Amino acid sequence: MNTDSFALRHIGPRRSDLPEMLQKVGVETIDQLIFETIPENIRLDQPLTLDPAMSEHEFAAHIQELASKNTVFNSYIGLGYHQAVTPAVIQRNILENPGWYTAYTPYQAEIAQGRLEALLNYQTMITDLTGMELANASLLDESTAAAEAMALLFAVRSREQKKAEVSKFFVSEEILPQTLSLLQTRATPIGVELVVGNHETFDFSQDFFGAILQYPGKSGQIHDIANFVNQANAIGIKVAVAADILSLVKLRAPGEMGVDVVVGTTQRFGIPLGYGGPHAAYFATKEAYKRNIPGRIIGVTRDMNGNRALRMALQTREQHIKRDKATSNICTAQVLLAVMAGMYGVYHGPEGLTHIANKVHNTATTLADALEKLGLYQTNTAYFDTIQIKTDSQKIANIATENNINFYYPDAETVAISIHEATTIKDLNAIIAVFAKALDKTTIEVKELIEGSSINNGIARDTPFLTLDVFNSYHSETELMRYIKKLERKDLSLNHSMISLGSCTMKLNAASEMLPLSDPQWGNIHPFAPLDQAEGYQIMLKKLEEQLTEITGFAGTSLQPNSGAQGEYAGLMVIRAYHESRGDSNRNICLIPSSAHGTNPASAVMAGMKVVVTKALENGNIDIDDLRTKAEEHKENLAALMVTYPSTHGVYESAIKEITSIIHKNGGQVYMDGANMNAQVALTNPGAIGADVCHLNLHKTFAIPHGGGGPGVGPICVASQLVPFLPSNPVITTGGDKAITAISAAPWGSALACLISYAYITMLGENGLRKSTEYAILNANYIKERLEGHYQCLYTGERGRAAHEMIIDCRPFKEHGIEVTDIAKRLMDYGFHAPTVSFPVAGTMMIEPTESESKEELDRFCDAMISIRKEIDNAANDPNNVMKNAPHTLAMVTSDTWDFPYTREKAAYPLSYVADNKFWPTVRRVDDAYGDRNLICTCAPIEEYMEEA
Ligand SMILES: *Cc1c(COP(=O)(O)O)cnc(C)c1O
Repeated sequence: MNTDSFALRHIGPRRSDLPEMLQKVGVETIDQLIFETIPENIRLDQPLTLDPAMSEHEFAAHIQELASKNTVFNSYIGLGYHQAVTPAVIQRNILENPGWYTAYTPYQAEIAQGRLEALLNYQTMITDLTGMELANASLLDESTAAAEAMALLFAVRSREQKKAEVSKFFVSEEILPQTLSLLQTRATPIGVELVVGNHETFDFSQDFFGAILQYPGKSGQIHDIANFVNQANAIGIKVAVAADILSLVKLRAPGEMGVDVVVGTTQRFGIPLGYGGPHAAYFATKEAYKRNIPGRIIGVTRDMNGNRALRMALQTREQHIKRDKATSNICTAQVLLAVMAGMYGVYHGPEGLTHIANKVHNTATTLADALEKLGLYQTNTAYFDTIQIKTDSQKIANIATENNINFYYPDAETVAISIHEATTIKDLNAIIAVFAKALDKTTIEVKELIEGSSINNGIARDTPFLTLDVFNSYHSETELMRYIKKLERKDLSLNHSMISLGSCTMKLNAASEMLPLSDPQWGNIHPFAPLDQAEGYQIMLKKLEEQLTEITGFAGTSLQPNSGAQGEYAGLMVIRAYHESRGDSNRNICLIPSSAHGTNPASAVMAGMKVVVTKALENGNIDIDDLRTKAEEHKENLAALMVTYPSTHGVYESAIKEITSIIHKNGGQVYMDGANMNAQVALTNPGAIGADVCHLNLHKTFAIPHGGGGPGVGPICVASQLVPFLPSNPVITTGGDKAITAISAAPWGSALACLISYAYITMLGENGLRKSTEYAILNANYIKERLEGHYQCLYTGERGRAAHEMIIDCRPFKEHGIEVTDIAKRLMDYGFHAPTVSFPVAGTMMIEPTESESKEELDRFCDAMISIRKEIDNAANDPNNVMKNAPHTLAMVTSDTWDFPYTREKAAYPLSYVADNKFWPTVRRVDDAYGDRNLICTCAPIEEYMEEA
């Protein structure tokens, strides 16, 4: 046996398990199972054309070679991206630790208190620095966060403004170029008109509902924005500010000046540049807008014993749950990166951050001073880290490049230099030497930094921040290491047990896929570095695009979108541009089956489309008659159908080709939601079912870890007619020749995370990918057969097969007083994370084991489910039962009192396997309603919490 084959490591079941599994499923071979599962007419007739699989060892050498083709310059480009220093203790204990990176979004709060606390720290850090009341637990990048701010301000216009259809949004010309591009993308479809200009000459007309400023501006100039905000607020214009997080250590907080929203990136808080991402964006606002905030908010509540517990707050407010009433489609965010940035705040504390901000500012000041001595003119009257020099920029560029230095050149006479945390005095002298050489002068050698003086009292910060204990307690490495471990131990991740979340594809995130992320030759490339410095990235990204294009059966791919929902939006915007290019700008109807994920209608609305919901049949399939009727009824204006395949019900609908052809006949394009691609790879594909565009969730099918709720990568793959419209970037050329404006801030989105999917595909090859899909289907059908007679599987294909996931019905247990939530919580006592609860059907669970789980693990899970089934029967109407009290904590089980009508052993060790690897939930069942009524979203001291209570 070739034990060096990666497929052997990635796929769970062993060859020796096969006979028993196949027998249980009732087939002779895997081929027979696949034949009975996937409709014949959509099966690929040729194997995918991919390079032969590399072993892990070969891949390590290969990726190292590609890394060496990246040239790491000292980049002072700025524009929202600054080299940062990742504290090693955070890199090793979080970024490189599966306990953190394999966790899922903390929907099951009782087994997620660790990352919930880390995120609460992050939110607190953001509210402190911005001076706002509330912050969310991250967005995708600064530019999309700015677009979300615009959408929020549009949604909360006053009644008069809505009546008068006030729709203008002012954008300062000091905004970052990528943010402007994103605002353009997002504004038009929702009916917002952008006006770009100088905020100092803005005429404060009542035609505007909102405005956005950059703080400091893209030139580095710090504008005194208080005056603008006052005048704007006086006539009902609400102001958002995109602020540099590190500068806020020294600058007056925007919240103190009455702004309504503050956004930005936290990249420079210890996150590698990674050629553009992933990084966490922050979004902070006033409490008054708590129901309009995009993304997730962590809040404080209490558990069944009244103890403090954390959870995701106001979930019903989450935009994508509101479907076509939503103003945002954000689902996956950047949780792992937010955890890291928050931990950077914990590591440095207020004194450390102050030191870093001072060092950066003093370095910039010292540079300006030295350049002045050389006779150069610096144009920013007030700045934090960025200075602008008037000189021949081409000449400087040439010498800088020779010295492996990148500056930013806004025009032929201007050089902009952004100083960052990693800039040393040696680096400073290298910068000065470039200018001296250009001027043909002897350079000035700087020996120490001078005290910065460019931030005067009017704009300087005078309020404290990060005063809470957590930011002032863990400043030795031993202490921080243990704090991180303490939090990690509260969370159930893939390194403990299977997480069978349907539609989420929690598969192995192999160590060999993750290793390259730690390499500075991948980490330290600025997204706007010239292409010839990023050759390794360019080769890798292009290869990944080709692989995904081949896998989906399409003609082109854009890696730009940072999540599945962003992919949906990008795909719909591409469809929109396609229709417009043909003079069909009236086409704005989007058909969406009732079973679709909430992000689908939310994305459609954001893309300016009108959602028409089509019905489902009793058996869960799309009602084709209804679909045809609606497609024909709207044939003049039909833009698209959004369809998930296999369906969100876990079924390969055999009529899919008929469905796509009905849409085409009526002038629409077919958008396939690719969240379920794990059931297709190498066996069928969106091209084969007749779709025109799909997004892929690389953080589902293609092994990027979920990170507790992000990062994600949501590329779109498109048929040839849509290739010209793939999205662009305003700084670095990318996308098609009729490209739409930007979907994400960075040209290739979260390029660093793309390494993981590239590793996954390259090490599996065609054979390994196909086997993975086959085993994903086998594992699901094995579970289905094992649960037969205990739970009812709601939907199956024509021959009784599940796809890669299945829905089990928990509604009948209501008779016994048991809700689906009780099963989810009881599973924790058995050491498992619940499957997806109540999606796509309320009162059900959707189970997706993935190919990575072994037969032993599947059996443990099934044993647990069957044992729970018996508990449900026994629970009959005694409200003090083991299900209702679940999960059981260590504190309960070791308490001197025990008032339950069952044993402690039954509570905590219900099956024998549990004792061997017990996982203890750290809080009892959390009270969701209480947390929403008493919203606290920062780590305020416990006394404050008690007072509120
Ligand atoms: C996960 C998922 C999405 C959204 O993906 P994100 O990356 O979370 O934005 C969309 N549709 C379906 C069916 C999904 O399962």
